[in-house]
Amino acid sequence: MKCNIKSILYISMTLVCSQFAQADDEINVYSARKEAYIKPLLDQFGETHNVRVNLITAKADALIQRLLKEGKNTPADVFITVDAGRLHRAKEAGLLQAIKDPAVLSQVPLHYQDADAHWLGLSVRARTLAFRHKNVKKEELSSYEALTDSLWKNRICIRSSNNIYNQSLVASMLAQHGEEITQKWANGLVANFARKPQGGDRDQIKALAAGQCDLAMINTYYLGKMLTADASQQAAAAEASLFWLNQNDRGVHVNVSGVGITAHGKHPELASKLVSFLLTDAAQAWYGEINLEYPIRDDIKVNDILHQWGPFKADQLNLTRLGELNAEAVRIMDRAGWP
Ligand code: FE
Repeated sequence: MKCNIKSILYISMTLVCSQFAQADDEINVYSARKEAYIKPLLDQFGETHNVRVNLITAKADALIQRLLKEGKNTPADVFITVDAGRLHRAKEAGLLQAIKDPAVLSQVPLHYQDADAHWLGLSVRARTLAFRHKNVKKEELSSYEALTDSLWKNRICIRSSNNIYNQSLVASMLAQHGEEITQKWANGLVANFARKPQGGDRDQIKALAAGQCDLAMINTYYLGKMLTADASQQAAAAEASLFWLNQNDRGVHVNVSGVGITAHGKHPELASKLVSFLLTDAAQAWYGEINLEYPIRDDIKVNDILHQWGPFKADQLNLTRLGELNAEAVRIMDRAGWP
């Protein structure tokens, strides 16, 4: 719609034009992150740039469906979610456009961004083991690969295969080993499950504390959050120690929370400014601190709990591969009988 259409009345034309003028001063964000984890940052961006930031939060797949349904009419300018697998899904569905600002792109390590820059990581999350220190010696642990050993029979807790974190973990195994070896590995891992997968990552730590298993596969921030939650969660978390897997070879499996600029947003310049803002020192420090994740920029100081867990070697796999290999990973998990 243009403001110079002669057939419309002057008054309505004025209204349309003024709406457009206002619209330039706002930006719409669809976020799969909980409001508490992102809104304070967005508010700060709004204040700094004198723009209204409208935030809609929902589950990632629901937001992707919504963006698909809205198509070219979407009000969304920016999409924020967790897991490279989901960011890749949004890209493949044609929902994102390339981020072009070289100053922005240069801040994010290449393996933490889409090959075509359709999304960028904002924070890093590691998926590794919590072990019950009463029953497990650190020296017994080494790698994802070694979890198929009969030593771990009926001792591993992990959530279900419909969870994207596990799908991305299996995708990382596929990238490293190919289909045949990964299938064998998945079969062996399932054979060592202590119970039918259920609940989220915190529930695996609770099960470990309750003696149902000795190893729990978790994203590390869940352990961190339990250590700072209510007394019962703190007590459960105190039973668990963190182990960084695969430190003698490729490094621990990592993933990102990330951001993309929507393909059909109406404020691409503001969207680009917001992405740039999310990578500033202050935003990176706050975002890592509040989520207990690692900043995407390695020159930013980490939270005290994370600091205590020590440095670790992260897999340098380009995370685009996790998205590309997602469907194959799901098939492997199905064939392995991973509920
Ligand atoms: Fe999570």
